[in-house]
Amino acid sequence: MNNKSIRLTSLSREELETLIVDEWGEKPFRAKQLWSWLYVKLVSEVGDMTDLSKLFRAKLVEVCQPLAPKVESQQTSKDGTIKWLLSFVDGQQIETVYIPEEDRGTLCVSSQVGCSLACPFCNTGTQKLVRNLTTSEIVEQVTFARSQVESQGQRLTNIVLMGMGEPLYNYDAVKKAVKIILDSSGLAIGTRKITLSTSGIVPKMVQAGYDLGVNIAISLHSVRDEVRDELVPINKKYNLAALRKGASEYPLKGNRSITWEYVMLDGVNDSPDDARELVKYLKGIPSKVNLIPFNPWPGTPYKPSSAKKIEQFQNIVGNSGLVTVIRERRGEDIQAACGQLKGERDKS
Ligand code: SAH
Ligand code: SF4
Repeated sequence: MNNKSIRLTSLSREELETLIVDEWGEKPFRAKQLWSWLYVKLVSEVGDMTDLSKLFRAKLVEVCQPLAPKVESQQTSKDGTIKWLLSFVDGQQIETVYIPEEDRGTLCVSSQVGCSLACPFCNTGTQKLVRNLTTSEIVEQVTFARSQVESQGQRLTNIVLMGMGEPLYNYDAVKKAVKIILDSSGLAIGTRKITLSTSGIVPKMVQAGYDLGVNIAISLHSVRDEVRDELVPINKKYNLAALRKGASEYPLKGNRSITWEYVMLDGVNDSPDDARELVKYLKGIPSKVNLIPFNPWPGTPYKPSSAKKIEQFQNIVGNSGLVTVIRERRGEDIQAACGQLKGERDKS
C-alpha cells in the first residue's frame, strides 16, 4: 500500500468496514468508531480520535491523506451567510456557502471546478470546466462546514447541490457522496433535506431520483425553446418537451414536488405572457416555483427584472395554485449568491 494513498472520505461505510476489518484485520467496532469520528464528531485530525489505539492511529496517519480541505478564505456576510473558498490537493479551488435561517442551516455545495455547460447568465458558466470534484471533495465540504458552524452553536441541516458545476455531469462521485451524507449512523442528513439542482440532464435526473430519492430542483428559466436554447444551452439536447417528460417520470415520495428554478432576467423571460406559459407547462406535475432574482456580475449582458415585474410574475403563477416563492437574496455583500461563486477571485 502506498503512503497516503487512502482518502477515508471517499469510502462508503461498507468500504471502510472492508478496509479496516478484512484488509487490516481490525475488529468491526474500530470501523464504527472511525465512521463516527469522521461523520458524527466531525474530527479531521486523526490524533484527536482518542478512543482509537495509538497503533491504529499511527497506521491511519501513515496511509491516509489529510481529511480537511484547505481554507483559502472565509467571508461572513452581514446576514450571517458564510462563504468559504476551499482548495484540495492539486490546488484547485471551489466555493461552499452556508446560509443560516431561523429553523435550519443550508449548505450550498459545489460538484465541479467550473462547468462545461456555459449558461450565459451564470458566472460559473463563463469558467471552463477544469475538473470534476471527487466524492471526498464533495463530502468534505459538508464535514468541514458542519464542524465549523456547529462549533459556533449553529446548525447545518440541509444540503443543496447548487454551487459550482452540474452535479449530474459528475454523477458517480455525486451519487456516492450523497449516499455517505445520507448514512443514518453518520451525517444523517435525510433525503428530504437534500436537493440536487440540475440544468436538466434528463436521463440522469430520473436515475438520480431512483438511486438517491432526494429532492430535485430543475433550472428552467424559460418555457420557450428558442429562449431556453440560449439561456440553458443543454436545452438543444434535452428540449422542453423532453424535460417535462423527465420531470413527470421523476419518482416523488409522499407529498413532495419538483422545484423549478426560474431566474428573472429583464426583458428576456419575465413578461406576464411568460408567466402564463409557465403555468401551462407545469400543469399536471407536482411543482413549486422558485423565482430567483438575477445576480449580475461584471461583464454580464443581462439585467435583473424589477421587483415589480417579479411580483407581477409571482402573482400570475401563484394565482394558478402553484406555490411560488421569490428567493431571498442572501450574502450579497460577499458575492455568495448563485452564479457568482469564485468569479470575483478569478478576475484579479
Ligand atoms: N448546474 C446546476 C446547479 C448549479 S447552478 C444548475 O444549473 O441547476 C444553481 C442555480 O443558480 C441554477 O438554477 C442557476 O440557473 C442559478 N444561477 C446561475 N447564475 C445565476 C445568477 N447570476 N443569478 C441568479 N441565479 C443564477
Ligand atoms: Fe453550469 Fe448550472 Fe451555471 Fe449552467 S447554471 S453554467 S449548468 S453551473
